[in-house]
Amino acid sequence: MRLCSFLDGGRPRLGRVAGELVHPLRGRDVADAIVASAPETDEAPRLLAEVELLAPLRPPKLIGIGHNSRDHAAEAGVEPPSEPRLFAKLTSSVTAPGGPVVHPGWTGELDYEGELAVVIGRRTRRVPPRDALASVFGYAVIDDVTARDLQRAEGNWVRAKGGDTFGPLGPWVTTADEIDSPQSLRIRTWVNGDLRQDGTTADMVFGVAELIAFVSDHLTLEPGDVLATGTPAGVGAWAAEARHLVPGDRVRIEIDGLGSIEHDVVAGG
Ligand code: MG
Repeated sequence: MRLCSFLDGGRPRLGRVAGELVHPLRGRDVADAIVASAPETDEAPRLLAEVELLAPLRPPKLIGIGHNSRDHAAEAGVEPPSEPRLFAKLTSSVTAPGGPVVHPGWTGELDYEGELAVVIGRRTRRVPPRDALASVFGYAVIDDVTARDLQRAEGNWVRAKGGDTFGPLGPWVTTADEIDSPQSLRIRTWVNGDLRQDGTTADMVFGVAELIAFVSDHLTLEPGDVLATGTPAGVGAWAAEARHLVPGDRVRIEIDGLGSIEHDVVAGG
């Protein structure tokens, strides 16, 4: 099942995407579908192409994983980490799959990171890896937008990764039962039609089950929490000639079986 949140008469509305249609469900967003069943309504379906999709949910916690693909660690010139490297990304950065991402002006090195987002479906504490995938509600696409200059300069990444609109998420949440393995998904990112990232979740240093187990050893995961599992090689910062995002750029990220998100970069104050 593909669950989305869309704008319906000016308000967020939970929906089920089927082909070119969105069937309205009871609830505001995917968080409502996680904690309770979200029954169908007898309302007429909308055309997917004509609705404005919102972020599927605003997670209680958004935890990122750094340097979690072998090729990305290599391009950054670091050894793959010996254990997952966690950071907190402000949940207020989460925005609609269609963006826009606002270039705030206080960075000269805005960058994209196409990633697999894992949406947690149940309270999870100290789960072993072999049982961890049972905690997954579903998967989505996220752009872990990053200000590289501040990421280098500062010990924590509140500004580097937490800026307003730095987390386009969506286009919907695909429930876990539709994904055979989270470790065999192709991730591609284009900027202005130019393919920049072409990676696979098979290249993760720590797979989704290991990440959930590791995180849940340190803190309790709750329904709706999201893990941004790390980006493959090809971010702008490490290109032969660094290519940072500027207003007017258009970023598209696609993951096999999960759909694509696409957003403009616009100038902000
Ligand atoms: Mg990232």
